[in-house]
Amino acid sequence: MKEDYYEILGIGKNASAAEIKKAYRKMALKYHPDKNPGDAKAEEMFKKSAEAYEVLSDPDKRARYDQFGHAAFDGSGGFGGGGMNMDDIFSQFGDIFGGAFGGSGGFGGFGGFGGGQRRAKGSNLRIRVKLTLEEVANGVEKKVKVRRKLQADGVTYTTCATCGGRGQVTKVTNTILGRMQTATTCSTCGGSGQVIGKKPSDADAQGLKVVEETVSIKIPAGVEEGMQLKVPGKGNDAPGNGVAGDLLVAIETEDHDTLKREGDNLHYDLYISISDAVLGTSKEIDAVGGKVRIKLEPGIQSGKILRLRGKGIANLNGYGSGDLLVHVNVWTPKELNKEQKEFFQRMQGNENFEPKPEKSDKSFFEKVKDMFS
Ligand SMILES: [Zn+2]
Repeated sequence: MKEDYYEILGIGKNASAAEIKKAYRKMALKYHPDKNPGDAKAEEMFKKSAEAYEVLSDPDKRARYDQFGHAAFDGSGGFGGGGMNMDDIFSQFGDIFGGAFGGSGGFGGFGGFGGGQRRAKGSNLRIRVKLTLEEVANGVEKKVKVRRKLQADGVTYTTCATCGGRGQVTKVTNTILGRMQTATTCSTCGGSGQVIGKKPSDADAQGLKVVEETVSIKIPAGVEEGMQLKVPGKGNDAPGNGVAGDLLVAIETEDHDTLKREGDNLHYDLYISISDAVLGTSKEIDAVGGKVRIKLEPGIQSGKILRLRGKGIANLNGYGSGDLLVHVNVWTPKELNKEQKEFFQRMQGNENFEPKPEKSDKSFFEKVKDMFS
């Protein structure tokens, strides 16, 4: 059983954003690897609290977690919860540690180094991707051109003279408790222990150069406008032996001509003639991925909602697909010729033409109520 995120951070379910941040900061500082070298238990707690914070600090994810628990993030195709590594934690929440560990401005990812060295992490890149409703409904793989800063060929590194390659410098201060040694990240090399020796002329001061690259992004079905996907390692390279930043993809969605989205469901307004309503017919309607033919029974009422199960949007968290709801509207003609007018005059007052709503012909408000219950 996975532990409750609120319990991990030691907060109540109604904790405010500020309380969540404060609780996480406390945990992160207590279990920080710098304070607990080689302590696997502390590392585990450090990761757990970061995972809890990642979810609870994001209003969308928190709402989903409150509703579905850990199941909200199972098989969700790249969002949320499970298994953060140290690089993720420091790149996402580095600001939380705000100076407590001598933050080195832009760097902070831990690598697999034994000593005090920190691996630099390259900066993130951000792009927007616009999706059609069809792409949202089924998921899509998008190829995008990204201008990344990559390590230039021919760059050489030498050991940082300031820290002697350790990545940290030790400062001694006198306090009322006596002499105290504090280790801070070396500002010359940013903690990597190395500085650039030689570099080609087209590389910048960090030994990087801009390269256009096509990146393939797998977008899961069911995403919404404003969501952000992360493609790890497709941001800018870091100098030296650092790790590349991430490519952050902001999702934008196009409106569809006839289909309206509401959560995982789609709505379609169908207009039919009085004669089609009376006699019954079949109609082709828009659905994602093509047209669908539906049958309308004779005597169908205006306001009837036909539910096509599973013809909506695939759920982001893998809970099946939504439905396509077809709203039937009977269109009343405004212009009639003499013959048509006479026909309707004959029918006016006819017993069969008088409204006789049944219990099953629910009012609009009752139908809306049903749909959301
Ligand atoms: Zn250094």
